[in-house]
Amino acid sequence: MSLKILQVPDSPEGRKAYVIKLPKPELHRHLEGCIRPVTVLEIANRHGLSVPSHDIKELEKNYRIYEQGESLEKILERFSLAQNSFQSYDDIERITWEACEDAYFKENVRLLELRYSPDFMLADRLDWQKGFEIISSTVSSFEKKHPMLCGIIIIFSRSYGLKSAWKTADFAIANKNKIIGFDLADSESMYPPQLYEKIALRLRSEKINLTVHSGEEGDYANMADTLMLLKPCRIGHGIKAAEDSSGKVIAAVKEAGVLLETNPRSNYLTRAVNKIEEHPLLKFLRAGIKCSIGADDPEILNTDLNNEYMLAIEKIGLSLADIEECRINAAYASFLPKDKKQQAFIELGIKQ
Ligand SMILES: [Zn+2]
Repeated sequence: MSLKILQVPDSPEGRKAYVIKLPKPELHRHLEGCIRPVTVLEIANRHGLSVPSHDIKELEKNYRIYEQGESLEKILERFSLAQNSFQSYDDIERITWEACEDAYFKENVRLLELRYSPDFMLADRLDWQKGFEIISSTVSSFEKKHPMLCGIIIIFSRSYGLKSAWKTADFAIANKNKIIGFDLADSESMYPPQLYEKIALRLRSEKINLTVHSGEEGDYANMADTLMLLKPCRIGHGIKAAEDSSGKVIAAVKEAGVLLETNPRSNYLTRAVNKIEEHPLLKFLRAGIKCSIGADDPEILNTDLNNEYMLAIEKIGLSLADIEECRINAAYASFLPKDKKQQAFIELGIKQ
């Protein structure tokens, strides 16, 4: 049940105004994908790092992805610009604060789950624990000033190898009372779920909420294995489930009660779907699967939650009732602790 907080509009402009005003939950957002271009430039200048251009407009062209079909090399270049921006603890603080500001002021986010990969972001350059304390305290300071409830998810990047996987899992366990969950990201087709069964078991035994990037690329069969072997509470993307003509994977997702954290523009840009209109979000909803809508890496993907909601409505065909369903299911599936979650329901205008 949701509060009727806004009038239902019947024109694209009206729907856009509606979407902008709507208080939103965001479950799938990478901190590394939230760095403003101007911040990338200023940090590079301060630390004497090379950037493709010192002109902000030119830099933006090398940093943001505007169209589908870029080579993997090009896409990785953009992420390495983001990665290089975590040079000092001050930089981490600035990036985290700005990520909160953008979510709250530009997108009207009221429940923000931010995720990051310590090995991707910091490697051996900065201390993981100190980096985490800064992210955590920055988010808390923002929460004290503004009615947005936040939590941090720790990511293991699959391409960093099993040693890094265990190091990241141990790091998450050591901080289990300060984080809200754990995520496996990166290519599932190259690093299948079978590799991480023990890690997932260990995390679950520590009662750490698990979400997994799955069904973003590769074969839908990996999704079935992810559900069976890793037993996540949520799945990031999951869109390959729609390619299983037998319907078994969709049925398995539904049966497991797992929420799919969909990210329409991200899936379009990585060619997981050829056209945004072909995104299976609506198909999932009609099949009775719980879905949320997220922006993934808003700055790099040149998007935000307002845009993602508009794509869902105008291109994928969701009604405002469907949008409301996604908003409510996201709030229920949030990994935030109970007290914060209850407050988030109030800020989102969703009746429990
Ligand atoms: Zn992601």
